[in-house]
Amino acid sequence: MTKNLLLGQVLSFSGDPFRQGLEAAVHHTHGAIVIEGGKILDVGPADTIRPAHPTANVTDLGDKLLLPGFVDAHVHYPQTAIIASWGKRLIEWLNTYTFPEETRFGDPEYASEIASRYFDLTLSCGTTTVCSYATIHPESVTAFFEQAQSRGLRALTGKTCMDRNAPDGLRDTAQSAYNDSKALLNTWHGVDRLSYVITPRFSPTSSPDQLQALGALWAEHPDCLMQTHLSEQLDEIEWVKSLFPAAKDYLDTYEQFGLMGEKALFGHAIHLTPREIAQLSEHQSSLVHCPTSNMFIGSGLFDIGHAQHLPVGLATDTGGGSNFSMLRTMAASYEVGQLRGHSLHPAQLLWLATAGSAKALHLGDKIGTLAPGYEADIIALDLASTPAIAQRAARAETIWEQVFPTIMMGDDRAISGVWVNGKAI
Ligand SMILES: [Zn+2]
Repeated sequence: MTKNLLLGQVLSFSGDPFRQGLEAAVHHTHGAIVIEGGKILDVGPADTIRPAHPTANVTDLGDKLLLPGFVDAHVHYPQTAIIASWGKRLIEWLNTYTFPEETRFGDPEYASEIASRYFDLTLSCGTTTVCSYATIHPESVTAFFEQAQSRGLRALTGKTCMDRNAPDGLRDTAQSAYNDSKALLNTWHGVDRLSYVITPRFSPTSSPDQLQALGALWAEHPDCLMQTHLSEQLDEIEWVKSLFPAAKDYLDTYEQFGLMGEKALFGHAIHLTPREIAQLSEHQSSLVHCPTSNMFIGSGLFDIGHAQHLPVGLATDTGGGSNFSMLRTMAASYEVGQLRGHSLHPAQLLWLATAGSAKALHLGDKIGTLAPGYEADIIALDLASTPAIAQRAARAETIWEQVFPTIMMGDDRAISGVWVNGKAI
């Protein structure tokens, strides 16, 4: 089998910098990564790795920074064409922009066109895995998986279930949500690098019967992830209270139907009660931080302190989020941290966008880390991609000082190489 050897600076994590500090980071100024058959075979300092693989094809990337491909833990690919829509808060934003666009995804051709555009945009930003919501239409799931599969990507999605408080043409039923989700799961889950995710949009758009049906489906397929939204905006929380008067809190509207556990992913999770935090901690459910979205839609400031005791992923939340780039998302995460008294270290930001998100998606043993045996999803970051960044990075004395200007000011221009499953694209 052909071996390919990449030379450059190499940065990855052997642990979690939120819990272990900078000890968790592994950096080689002159590093090398050996790829064989889609997997990483060897990683380390170039002067030991290179002689150990004398027949490998060598690609020298100079002082570019080789990182694991970014992992975006919560997106809505069907909202690609309505990103950056002006002036609304959550419920009005869904009704004005999102729902009319999502009604179009029953058309397989349109769904394929947007899925293809979405993957092109995110790959150009260095994102090699996304966990997406689809729409209520099974066609939207098929289009996403087909486009991901043709690119060799590891990707996750599920049919977004809604049987109330959504317009005509965008509602399923409890039974059809169960049947369609089950059929899609049986077709796609575990095929190539694809995973099916059971996906009630959020409790305001699912009746108790639908939540019950999806809880039952999850109990039948406990190896699947379950994703939904939790406590994004205060108005939304009030609405949930009025729809579920007997529930203890927002989380309980999922918990009472079996939609809670270690493999649950809760997007946003900003305004949590002490009981909710205690339950999430006990079950070790994953939270997904969507900082550009939380600011763009005016939702609030996520407490990154949760990363000390819970799995936390990072996400663009396209198109409620205002950018496809995980660099821009790390910058927003830094800014939100500052407003809540946490100055996130560049190591923590990069970990959130790679291994942290992978761990939140229960893929921490497959992607998000540059180590032997991991899937070879790799990016090369240009740490001097614009004159403004280059002049600041030129003064850097450590790798962290060198990479932070790219985190704060970088975009798709900083991505100078992307490898998916070992192949350069
Ligand atoms: Zn979302």
